[in-house]
Amino acid sequence: DKAILTVDNLHTHFFTKSGVVKAVDGVSFNVKPGETLGIVGESGSGKSITAMSIMRLIKDPPGKIVEGNITFKGEDLLAKSAKEMRSIRGDRISMVFQDPMTSLNPVFTIEKQLVETIRAHRDVTKKQAVERAVELLDLVGIPSARSRLRSYPHEFSGGMRQRVMIALALSCDPEVLIADEPTTALDVTIQAQILELLARLQKELGMAIIMITHDLGVVAEVCDRVMVMYAGKPVEFADVAELFEHPKHPYTWGLLSSIPTIANKKERLDAIKGIPPDLRALPAGCSFAPRCKHAMEACQHVDPGYVEARRNHQVRCLLYEEKEVAMK
Ligand code: SF4
Ligand code: MG
Repeated sequence: DKAILTVDNLHTHFFTKSGVVKAVDGVSFNVKPGETLGIVGESGSGKSITAMSIMRLIKDPPGKIVEGNITFKGEDLLAKSAKEMRSIRGDRISMVFQDPMTSLNPVFTIEKQLVETIRAHRDVTKKQAVERAVELLDLVGIPSARSRLRSYPHEFSGGMRQRVMIALALSCDPEVLIADEPTTALDVTIQAQILELLARLQKELGMAIIMITHDLGVVAEVCDRVMVMYAGKPVEFADVAELFEHPKHPYTWGLLSSIPTIANKKERLDAIKGIPPDLRALPAGCSFAPRCKHAMEACQHVDPGYVEARRNHQVRCLLYEEKEVAMK
């Protein structure tokens, strides 16, 4: 399959008084139609900034995409004008956030918000837009959709509000849906329902999904491929089954052991000791070295490159460098 969206060597930096924050520092991946790509990492790893860069929502100043390319169906997104991007956002590429209240306006009814979004991108009558709104609420599993149109966001439960936000994101049939921690604020049962909903919608609508999460459990549920990020860089990239069966990066090992199960619920929070590095002053060698149980002397001064540790499985870690040399 041909990629619908390609991100190539993306660098997004923030120029602050206290230094340059290299929030995204060399990220490359692509997404194919109908595929779900997971981007996983702790907060501050650059996942959301990667998504905001694709949407061209980085506030400049202080943020700037300083290097790289983003291509959507052969079109160079970084060359688009602000006006062209407004017509792409919400229409061809859409985003769902963790907190529905950031996308839903509390003072307007759901109907008004859906109708306005639809009419911003489509030349339809108000009546047609209302019918589409009902269809969308139905699609995302809101019971008695028509009678809920006049409700305000606060009249929905957290899970239902997230469904409304997904309806809003889908209102113009996007080809790519970026979901940034869409279930993080929800309890486990509701979270599972929303993930099921996204998986079903993807089957029915055939869009590509980029699922941003700190939780490999979510990745296991819905993703086809996964990119693990740490300190602004991808550190591991593989198909989901491959990643779970043959995880290679010590950071991924930590994330895997932090997947909550009934047995390890208590340990999950301290599965990876330490905190991510200051992005203004990254360690000279591997960014993960200060937290890595497997760090060697070389890790303190050599920044590992990306190597193919197994077929279609890349990792950025010195544990595999020699292997890579041997393979060539
Ligand atoms: Fe750990 Fe070294 Fe690999 Fe970095 S390069 S993850 S410090 S073993
Ligand atoms: Mg985030």
